[in-house]
Amino acid sequence: MSKLLIVDDNQKDIYLLQALLEGNGCEVAVALNGAEALEKARRDPPDIIISDILMPVMDGFTLCYEWRRDIRLKDIPFVFYTATYTDARDEELAMKAGADMFICKPVEPDEFMTVIQKAIKDFEESNIEPRKPDLEEEKDILKLYNERLILKLEEKMLELEKEIAERIKTENSLRLSEEKFSKAFRSSPTLMSISTLQEDRFIDVNDAFIETSGYGREEIIGRTSLELGMWAYPVDRNRVVNRLCEHGIVQNEEIGIRIKTGKILTTLFSAEIIYMESEPCVLSVALNITESKKLQSQLLHAQKMESIGRLAGGVAHDFNNILTAIVGFGNLIKMKLKEDDPLKTNVDYILSSAEKAAYLTQSLLTFSRKQKINPVYINLNEIIRKLEKFLLRIIGEDIAFKTIFTEEELNVMADINEMEQVLMNLITNARDAMPRGGLLILKTQSVKIDDEFMQCYGYGKSGMYALISISDTGMGMDGKTKEMIFEPFFTTKEVNKGTGLGLSIIYGIIKQHNGYINVYSEPGTGTTFNIYLPLIKQTLKVSREKQADVSVPVGGTETILVAEDDTLIRKFVTAILTEFGYRVIAAEDGEDAINKFVDNKDSIQFVISDVIMPKKSGRELYEKIKSIKPEVKILFLSGYSKELIHKKDLLEEGIEIIPKPVKPDDLLRKIRKRLDM
Ligand code: ADP
Ligand code: MG
Repeated sequence: MSKLLIVDDNQKDIYLLQALLEGNGCEVAVALNGAEALEKARRDPPDIIISDILMPVMDGFTLCYEWRRDIRLKDIPFVFYTATYTDARDEELAMKAGADMFICKPVEPDEFMTVIQKAIKDFEESNIEPRKPDLEEEKDILKLYNERLILKLEEKMLELEKEIAERIKTENSLRLSEEKFSKAFRSSPTLMSISTLQEDRFIDVNDAFIETSGYGREEIIGRTSLELGMWAYPVDRNRVVNRLCEHGIVQNEEIGIRIKTGKILTTLFSAEIIYMESEPCVLSVALNITESKKLQSQLLHAQKMESIGRLAGGVAHDFNNILTAIVGFGNLIKMKLKEDDPLKTNVDYILSSAEKAAYLTQSLLTFSRKQKINPVYINLNEIIRKLEKFLLRIIGEDIAFKTIFTEEELNVMADINEMEQVLMNLITNARDAMPRGGLLILKTQSVKIDDEFMQCYGYGKSGMYALISISDTGMGMDGKTKEMIFEPFFTTKEVNKGTGLGLSIIYGIIKQHNGYINVYSEPGTGTTFNIYLPLIKQTLKVSREKQADVSVPVGGTETILVAEDDTLIRKFVTAILTEFGYRVIAAEDGEDAINKFVDNKDSIQFVISDVIMPKKSGRELYEKIKSIKPEVKILFLSGYSKELIHKKDLLEEGIEIIPKPVKPDDLLRKIRKRLDM
């Protein structure tokens, strides 16, 4: 086993060499410079010395020079092992100083070991005589060392300078990127924060964070998100922290953040672990998506209501035709039965059940806005005042009822009956929500719908509106319930207590009046329904619809063309008219009707027609007849509202339409009246 002395000022190099040599069975002593090496070698001479050149206190050349002049050391082999800045002159000088071998760093460890082991063996076997210093040049040698060292130092200085310049450059670009980051941090519209990983204690937050959260900077910095109660749902925090610890990053998680006012914002949350002075911290970015989420769900809700409306309307429309036949034929039977006929009660049951079914389809048609309305010019305050006594009766004694009316006139175009129904349904719901009593407030005011309102609700046309608010202190509703209340047949009430139609009827009515309805509710606290109806400025007076005609139906002997594609209705109308003395020509579509009219134009005095029929529409039939025989009178039947028919341009305005289901009395009376005009 050989004893080696390694001399090097670079700890890392020493460590590597030492490990390598010891691993190969050598005994290794180390020194950090020439002076230390001399001292150690004098105390305990090694078998071989391996030295670096450039070292503090005493360099390798000087060490080698002194080595060769020390009586106890001069025969011990001296190997230079040196790094970079080496060129041929170094080797030459080293050899002049009396070195035995010159190895350049870096060499492969294996290679190094082979070289060293071979050197040791050669020296041991005296294959190589330790070199003698060249005494001839002894005088110059120190001078040469110095020159060489200065050169080497200069080289090193240059290298250092380069290194410093390099470092300054990286520091500059680091500062620049830091500056860029801090600028982005400060002015980003997203909520950004830096907090400690362990406690989530805030170190810094940006302006958007301050602005959105409502906290002052001094209220946040130094405190933890838990102390501030910022995690709306604490499970979110656990999930985020776990994922951060596992992956170091969290991206686009939907997280609820509670701000100072207590309001919860929905955010898209991303975070990453960063190190601040070697402490693991979290850089969080939260994008506030509360508004867009709200708008999205409002849109979805509106679309859902629209499609439910279409479905309900479609079903109700077809159902109405069927009911028309049931009611019609039922009435026909009833007319034929004697007062004391035992079957009369059966027929009455059929008719009253059909009536109930008609109410249901009517409600659905109202919801889907296919119901005709009769808007008149009214002051809402007056209508509500008139209704007050009646509403009180619905409410019952345990509930206090308070009304607050605005001084202003709330003039709107509205169907009085429908408005009454809206109020009744709302008041009934409020009563049901307060089974143990409470307070019910009905308030009217005029409000402006502006951009802010539209932004908040995602709908609305700007302008002045009458606002009716109905508030109760009842059980309230949770979010899920609130989303569904306007859907037909949605009810939370017991069977037989609720039909789930009240609010859908209201919804349809308000929509048809170009108004809006919204609801505020807190479970356990109460509910407020707000209804907005557009205010009318000019004081135009529109007369109320005339009283319903109640004269006794009479028949006639005229010839009537009945155009209706629905077989049941066609047969029923034909049956009634025939029953009352008329002669009927029935046609099953528009084309058939035109043909039959052309064939019988002299005898036909009256036409009853459906609006929408196959082949030729009611309108086409109307135009054809008017061109052939202008004096013929026409009456239309339709399940759709007058407004819809006119809006869709199915018929001109001013043409009379009888709504389905058709009541026989009504039909007979209208025909007679028109014929006698
Ligand atoms: P119904 O009254 O027949 O249940 P509605 O359409 O009138 O049908 O109401 C639907 C549902 O809306 C009710 O079952 C109830 O859950 C809820 N609701 C309506 N008004 C209120 C209110 N004022 N307070 C609490 N919940 C209400
Ligand atoms: Mg109800």
